[in-house]
Amino acid sequence: MNIARAELGAVKLEELRFDNRYGRLPPDFYTRLSPTPLPNPYLVAFNPAAADLIGLAPEEAERAEFAEIFCGNRLLPGFDPLAAVYAGHQFGVFVPQLGDGRAILLGEAAGAQGRWDLQLKGAGKTPYSRMGDGRAVLRSSIREYLASEAMHALGIPTTRALAIVGSDQAVIRENIESAAVLTRMAPSHVRFGSFELFSSRRQHEHVRTLADYVIDQHYPQLREARAPCLELLREVIGRTAKLVAHWQAVGFCHGVMNTDNMSILGLTIDYGPYGFMEGFDWGHICNHSDDGGRYAYNMQPRIAHWNLYCLAQALLPLVEVEEAESALGEYEGQFEQNYSGLMRTKLGLATTQADDAALLQDTLKLLHDSRADYTTFFRRLGNFDSAPGADNAPLRDLFADRDAFAVWAGRYRVRLALEASTDAERKPRMDRVNPKYVLRNYLAESAIRKAADERDYSEIARLMRL
Ligand code: AMP
Ligand code: MG
Repeated sequence: MNIARAELGAVKLEELRFDNRYGRLPPDFYTRLSPTPLPNPYLVAFNPAAADLIGLAPEEAERAEFAEIFCGNRLLPGFDPLAAVYAGHQFGVFVPQLGDGRAILLGEAAGAQGRWDLQLKGAGKTPYSRMGDGRAVLRSSIREYLASEAMHALGIPTTRALAIVGSDQAVIRENIESAAVLTRMAPSHVRFGSFELFSSRRQHEHVRTLADYVIDQHYPQLREARAPCLELLREVIGRTAKLVAHWQAVGFCHGVMNTDNMSILGLTIDYGPYGFMEGFDWGHICNHSDDGGRYAYNMQPRIAHWNLYCLAQALLPLVEVEEAESALGEYEGQFEQNYSGLMRTKLGLATTQADDAALLQDTLKLLHDSRADYTTFFRRLGNFDSAPGADNAPLRDLFADRDAFAVWAGRYRVRLALEASTDAERKPRMDRVNPKYVLRNYLAESAIRKAADERDYSEIARLMRL
């Protein structure tokens, strides 16, 4: 067993190799500090797939030290804990200084496919905590853990989650809840807001230092370009367009698309009041405090574009205005191209036809008018019987307006006939892109309730297997 483990490169906790290149940036970028200890930590969830990314042997999670380390009570050799500082536009309003108010970056662990930041979320107060207590609660930690791994399983760029450690320490929210620490992993946690901080302070040297750092660590292929910072902006625009196209296609609402929650790597980051679309509603708002619907489902593509403007603005010390504007002008086309490509595969279409955009809009309108379940619709569409006269009852029954469905089904049948696909050939193709399961709210809720009320973590593990 031990030999096999060594061959696979899986190591013990003490054998992990850490570095913290972010900690070698100038002191204005962060505050070094240790996590605040938590009493009686215990393991709530452990994700072997994330452990594998850094070569950590899964048995290590069974050691008592594991919970001590990943709640911040004990530091491993090589950890260099720090809280990063950033700024950001929150609900459209610029906040000159935010930062890791409850997250602490421990360092980067080297894995077979690169380095991963290990960050403890909920590890205690930092100089950026403002009015907050520096803690995360068990409920939100489970929600982030499950969602980030669900997104990964769906092929959507995201931060990952290594583990949740719980504690009996009470935390006051609307109710009394218990504290937990989520270990989050990403190649980088740099946000649009990291650039906005230095730009708004007119610390242009720091903007350059951060851009150089991001390029060197994460976009090394841009180093030799004529204008590397412009190319960085273009890369981030392209990745963000692709990310949001994925969100729209799978029906994911982020809920808090502030620029401090936008990743410079185009990852889904900071899972808060997110939601997966159930009954389809263009204007679905998942964040109860988002009264104006700024971050509603159908606003997400535009908001991402707006956020990219903020990033471009922050990069202006390094990029020509006209070039930045021209790069931003490419966003919409990139989003549309990604989104329509994803939706074409969801509809099972193998070719592109002139009316496809209209078909897609009308499909979504049909769904919206009946508030039909988004995921179920596309999954059942894989079983569509294109024979004339077929009633397609399982699909039809999702709609209140059966006549509207019949008209739509007739049109879809005609569209399918324009290409040489068969029902049998189309189904497996559609099943690969139309998920059977998404992380519906009630699923996450049942896992949270069992964990919080009974300390029964089996539902979290079951959902992870799904
Ligand atoms: P979020 O909306 O989760 O992205 O958080 C926005 C800002 O508030 C970030 O700077 C967080 O670090 C900070 N923050 C959120 N919750 C807390 C908390 N409980 N304690 C301290 N800071 C927090
Ligand atoms: Mg945040």
